[in-house]
Amino acid sequence: MKKFVAILLFFCIYFSLIPNFCFGEEEVVLPIIMYHTILNSRQGTYIVSERQLSADLEALRDEGYTSVFPSEIIEYVYGNGSLPKKPILITFDDGYYNNLYYGLPILQKQGFKANINIIGKITDDETENGENPNPNYSYLSWEEVKILKDSGNFEIGHHSYDMHKYEPRYGIGQLWNESDEDYKKSLETDTEKLLLKMQEKAHIMTNVFAYPFGKYNELSKTILTSMNFKMLLTCNERVNIIKKNDPPCLLNLGRFNRRGDYSTNEFIAKLKV
Ligand SMILES: [Zn+2]
Repeated sequence: MKKFVAILLFFCIYFSLIPNFCFGEEEVVLPIIMYHTILNSRQGTYIVSERQLSADLEALRDEGYTSVFPSEIIEYVYGNGSLPKKPILITFDDGYYNNLYYGLPILQKQGFKANINIIGKITDDETENGENPNPNYSYLSWEEVKILKDSGNFEIGHHSYDMHKYEPRYGIGQLWNESDEDYKKSLETDTEKLLLKMQEKAHIMTNVFAYPFGKYNELSKTILTSMNFKMLLTCNERVNIIKKNDPPCLLNLGRFNRRGDYSTNEFIAKLKV
């Protein structure tokens, strides 16, 4: 009888606890927020005010979220790192100067980490024009990108060198009459150009790519992963499930665009869907 109870106990523990321990805890829910510009003068689909950004971060902390860098997420998935209980990834797209002017002090004050995805050609142009930057319309120069990187609050990601536009192609989309070979060459050339600039101008190495306008296809995913990109960010609004030892789970991650016409509470509620 004792033997029977012992065997029963063993199976109960095996089938109830062990699978949860082995598999359940390896999966992490990861919401990602996508910000763009920070302006106090107007509202819009891609604009938040300083006050809204501050309120968002405070609310996220109150909800128990801890911000993480893309590198920490990658380390976790590739088997070496760990993540906090409720991780969240904060991203900023396009490389606006106001992300440094307004955003960095807010992130520093509240102890938040973020990713910023820059466009190479715009960063080059801003660096060359050399005018005094204005938070209302300027983009980051290479020197300013480096300030963000050195702040310890930002990791820099790739948002194409010169494919963040609607013509001749829509973002990194393939042209209808373009062969796969030609498309591969165009995307690789553009992508490589920003990778080299990042290294040369600000000693940055990244394996994070944010699709311009969220446009992507199967071939672009293959091309970018073959260039060693490990995290690909879309504009599809959904929460992500991250798994250890499952690198494909980082390809085509969903992000929630933070529109200016939502209240902080309305927006944070969306992250739980
Ligand atoms: Zn963009």
